[in-house]
Amino acid sequence: MNISAVRGFRDVLPQESAIWQELEAQARRYLTAYGFAEIILPVVEKTELFARAIGETTDIVEKEMYTFTDRDDASLTLRPEGTASVIRAYIEHSLFHKEPVSKLFYIGPMFRRERPQKGRYRQFHQIGAEILGRDDPLIDAELLLLLHDLFTALQLTITIEVNSLGCTLCRPRHRESLRTFGESRLAALCANCQARLQRNPLRILDCKEPGCRQATADAPMLTAFLCPACGEHFDRVQAYLRQEQVCFSVNPRLVRGLDYYCRTSFEVLAQGLGAQNAVCGGGRYDGLVAQLGGPAVPGIGFAIGVERLVMLLQSHERQHLLHPDLFIAPLDERAETYAFSVAHRLRQEGYYIELDSSRRGLKAQMRRADKLGARYVLILGEQELAVGKGTIRDMQAKTDHPLAVDLTLPAQKMMESIQLKNI
Ligand code: AMP
Repeated sequence: MNISAVRGFRDVLPQESAIWQELEAQARRYLTAYGFAEIILPVVEKTELFARAIGETTDIVEKEMYTFTDRDDASLTLRPEGTASVIRAYIEHSLFHKEPVSKLFYIGPMFRRERPQKGRYRQFHQIGAEILGRDDPLIDAELLLLLHDLFTALQLTITIEVNSLGCTLCRPRHRESLRTFGESRLAALCANCQARLQRNPLRILDCKEPGCRQATADAPMLTAFLCPACGEHFDRVQAYLRQEQVCFSVNPRLVRGLDYYCRTSFEVLAQGLGAQNAVCGGGRYDGLVAQLGGPAVPGIGFAIGVERLVMLLQSHERQHLLHPDLFIAPLDERAETYAFSVAHRLRQEGYYIELDSSRRGLKAQMRRADKLGARYVLILGEQELAVGKGTIRDMQAKTDHPLAVDLTLPAQKMMESIQLKNI
């Protein structure tokens, strides 16, 4: 029997990885423009890091982590998200001494044992960014601006939803009110929400069960409980966004799956993905660095889901693939040997040369050149080579012209005569 990939783990094939690369390149470009530097983190961490950072009552820690015991009995976990690791590294390397504000980004795989479905995998990839060191609303707005600019550059139609989750002053009052509300609707809540109501009542706003959605339609919302400082903070974030003409909407039910968020929380939603329509989530986590043993440094961050964005970009059917500078179609073995040298000469200088090695007839090779979007094809046959020439076909103009294939010419000269630039 053939061995297949593990459920929820997938291969990214070339057609898709080309889009993936382009997405990553754009993200790097905007992250750099906004002053972020990359941090490359390990995939495995001590289990207690996630238990402490993400929260014991979250879905991730309760049932989704890939946790295993190492040979020395240490409990290790494949990272389910990146923020905890960034903060662990921030504290471990005392990065707070180096810069008053640290702007870090990471790109890489995350692991969660969720039920796989379209747009949801057990290994998936995130592009994440964190700003540590300042809690000014300007910082929150800057992060949202970066997302807005990146999604605009990718030509994706998205909705940015924001909410404020308050702080340690205003949150307890809301929790109490929500708990009382939940108790009055207990029978209508799912078993999960019932079990969590006492420990973490906020979760009932986040539950996807239709019954819970209905039962909590008129639940007390956080925005009504914000203390004056949180209220002003949230107002100013929104004012900055309006100032820069960023479209967004306030969603008072937006809670997010992790316990560590406070104040500004946000999600970016996209159409065309079905139920898994969130392409990015994030928010402020001012107490987290201290909670993990570091100084009282505020932070905010986001994580973009790469697979979902790639799905969107694919469905746009745009031309993402790189086109060959030249397609070489050798018609026999001798021509192929010669073509091998021509290709090498040009590739050495960084030209993208597609050398057809199918040994098929000219027609089939031309079809492939067309499919790859090559503008020029160099046809090499025995007769032509005998007189030191090949034929260049301009696929766009649909014209042929002879080319002296001279391996002593510099690569750039050769490309120029292929493109008829010197004639
Ligand atoms: P989170 O870390 O849960 O806030 O998720 C941030 C983003 O990562 C989401 O908006 C999704 O785009 C993506 N994401 C989260 N979980 C998965 C998953 N299991 N499979 C694919 N993408 C995911």
